Amino acid sequence: MKVAVYPGSFDPITKGHEDIIKRAAKVFDELIVVVSVNPDKKGLFDIPERVELIKRVVKPYANVKVESFDGLVINYMKTHDIKVIIKGLRAMSDFEYEFQMALINNKLDSSVETLFMMTNTEYSFLSSSAVKQTAMFGGCIKGLVPDEILNDVIKKVGNRR
Ligand code: ADP
Repeated sequence: MKVAVYPGSFDPITKGHEDIIKRAAKVFDELIVVVSVNPDKKGLFDIPERVELIKRVVKPYANVKVESFDGLVINYMKTHDIKVIIKGLRAMSDFEYEFQMALINNKLDSSVETLFMMTNTEYSFLSSSAVKQTAMFGGCIKGLVPDEILNDVIKKVGNRR
C-alpha cells in the first residue's frame, strides 16, 4: 500500500492545503495529514482544534487520516514506517525553506523521499498567516478557507481581538 504523510502547521487549514490534500489523495492509497508543532509559529488554534477542523474538511476523502505529532516529522515517519513526505510549493520563497528541510530529512533518514506538489495558481498567494491577518482586520476570508470551518476562524479571531 502506498502511504504518504502531508505535514504542516495547518493553523488553520486553508483552501490551498485542501487542494494539495485532494490531489495527493488521488495519487496515494492513504494520505495522513500530520499537524506538527512548529515552535517558530505562534498559534491561533491549539493542536487538537486544528486536527478537528481538518477532520471536518477531509470527511469526504475516505483515504485521508488526520493526526498530530510533537517532534520531528522524520521521527513520525520512522515510527510508522512511512517513506513519502508530501509538501506543497507556492513560490520561490517556499522553495528555499522546503529544499533545506528536504535535505535535512534526507540526511536524517535517506530512505524517506520528499515529493513536492505545485500549488494551484488560484491559491498561490494563500497562507494560514495571510488568512489570520485578513480575518484579524475584519477582511472577508470566504473562499480562502474551506466553508466548513469559516465560522470557526471568524469566531476564534473575534475572541482574540
Ligand atoms: P502555512 O502556515 O505557510 O500556510 P503550513 O506549515 O501549514 O503553512 O503548510 C504545510 C504545507 O502546505 C507546506 O508544504 C506548505 O508549503 C504547503 N502549503 C501551504 N499553503 C499552500 C498553498 N496555498 N498551496 C500549496 N501548498 C501550500
